[in-house]
Amino acid sequence: MRRRTGGSPRGMKVEQPDVPIRTCLGCGRRRPKAELVRLVLDASGQPTTESGRAIQARGAYLCGPGCLKAAVKRKAFGRAFKGRARSVDPERLWVALGGEVGGWR
Ligand SMILES: [Zn+2]
Repeated sequence: MRRRTGGSPRGMKVEQPDVPIRTCLGCGRRRPKAELVRLVLDASGQPTTESGRAIQARGAYLCGPGCLKAAVKRKAFGRAFKGRARSVDPERLWVALGGEVGGWR
């Protein structure tokens, strides 16, 4: 986001900037992209939170570890990545999303 210096003319209504909205794979709620965790596929077709390992631009979004369970149950990854997600390792993702180690089951 660009930061404005020098100030804007007085009396001008400050408009809400266009924030990109994305849908969470788990709960299906639409939220500003910045509030969601972005998942991408790495070279092995595994969803990961490490965007540096992305092999394609397509991403999927989750609110957090709680929504991961719902997403796995709904098999949402297959749809989100158009069938390119091969093996989802929910436990690894769970930790990457901030879940407690061992708390997946
Ligand atoms: Zn969610």
